[in-house]
Amino acid sequence: MSQNYEMLIDGKWTKSKSGASRNITDPASGELVAVVPESSKEDAVAAIQAARRAFDYGPWRKVSALERGKILFRIGDAIRAEGAKLAKLEVQNCGKPLAEAEYDVADAANCFEFYGGLATKIQGETMSVPANSVSIVVREPVGVCGQIIPWNYPLLMAAWKLAPALAAGNTVILKPSELTPVTALELGRLMMALEIPAGVVNIITGPGAGAGEELASNPNVDKIAFTGGTVTGRKIMNGATSNLKKISLELGGKNPNIVFADADLEAAIDGALFAAFANQGEVCSAGSRLLVESSIHKKLVDGMLAKIPKIKLGHGLTAGVKMGPLISAAHREKVESYIKIGRDEGATLVCGGKRPQGPEFEKGHFLEPTIFDYVKPQMRVAKEEIFGPVLSVIPFNSEAQAIQIANDTEYGLAAAVWTQNATRGLRVTKELRAGITWINNYHSTFNELPWGGYKQSGMGRELGLYGIEAYLETKQININLDTAPIGWY
Ligand code: NDP
Repeated sequence: MSQNYEMLIDGKWTKSKSGASRNITDPASGELVAVVPESSKEDAVAAIQAARRAFDYGPWRKVSALERGKILFRIGDAIRAEGAKLAKLEVQNCGKPLAEAEYDVADAANCFEFYGGLATKIQGETMSVPANSVSIVVREPVGVCGQIIPWNYPLLMAAWKLAPALAAGNTVILKPSELTPVTALELGRLMMALEIPAGVVNIITGPGAGAGEELASNPNVDKIAFTGGTVTGRKIMNGATSNLKKISLELGGKNPNIVFADADLEAAIDGALFAAFANQGEVCSAGSRLLVESSIHKKLVDGMLAKIPKIKLGHGLTAGVKMGPLISAAHREKVESYIKIGRDEGATLVCGGKRPQGPEFEKGHFLEPTIFDYVKPQMRVAKEEIFGPVLSVIPFNSEAQAIQIANDTEYGLAAAVWTQNATRGLRVTKELRAGITWINNYHSTFNELPWGGYKQSGMGRELGLYGIEAYLETKQININLDTAPIGWY
């Protein structure tokens, strides 16, 4: 049964000013999940004004760090208490398998708890420069923060954005993807039950063109935090020049997953499949380029092909399902266009490449896990972010060549190395131009560690101690201990 939602503006649940709404459908079944307001610039302006008032005149900045921290812990508790409902809604809204959604929900709660703890550890410093003065360096909230997030991890991305911003004392306007607003609105409902002052958290639904652009360009917004595609990231930067907003960007990737001949083969096979196909491959850090040493190339590919039948496709709420549908019909068509490009470029399709057949797949945007072998580094399927279940296997002959191919990309988000030689693992990892790296592992993400990319994969870092920096200003306060006139004139 579908539910009607309103947006959260200034502590009140609100329809869009135009009265327009949007149907949110389950990408696996086409069923209606929710009806949400379709906001426009005017709604974004109302939310920005509410956040501005709440920051400039409201009580939030004066709430002690201890109290802010406690509120964040209570948000974590509230997420856990409604975890089963949130996970189910996440599956129905964005298609991922239930086990993945449950992991996201738990991680979202952990994120609020991490930043709840950090709220009381935001510290400045003191200095005595020159001798007759004392200087204090204090950290203050940036102000009004616009936060724009994508459709692949709707609840988790909302947590990554809201938790550090609130811990630091900011007010926020969050805009989820137009396709996946449901769990962000549910999170808003949980937060309002905790008596967070009106205007501190505003959640607007609707398209990037309009509401999202307004958040990026409106001069009353002090900071914009964005997760999404690199092309959109550039537009956000352009919009942010209006008042030289502080910017943080988490963008796309074309991430190399490098397997050396001395790797534990079984672990590498598992890791390569998980890197490429978790969350249908709709992951910014997906290991979408599998670089494999030539001497084990055939064994590794055969090992993956033997396991592909275990990736059961279906509705994410069906027991045993390991891969759900893609987010939309348009996105599936985009991914399919890359499969055609790969074939036309001469890569060898060794599995997938088509829609699964059967009545359970007819109404969803399903696509089989797809592997191209003998991909050349210059092919488009090796260069461009496909953001779906398409893996490109690229053989290499030496460590130096692996590093060269791995770094030959405009992106620099994530990378992994599989080897049982610890020295090689570290040596190669140090050469990789990427912000998130793994050795004998893939996709593990920690609230305690910085997340973000080199090169065109973004600017700044989220999570960990680094993540709160994006939401803090730094002020020096100089106290003169010598009260005599300076006698300059
Ligand atoms: P988009 O860049 O299309 O959209 C991301 C968000 O930006 C959505 O809320 C979207 O709104 C909004 N938006 C779109 N156009 C504008 C605009 N002109 N001004 C302001 N906001 C805008 O990305 P997707 O949602 O398609 O997500 C996929 C992309 O996100 C991939 O490239 C992926 O790599 C990246 N990503 C990066 C992550 C990271 O941590 N680095 C994590 C997850 C995803 P709407 O959709 O509502 O119209």
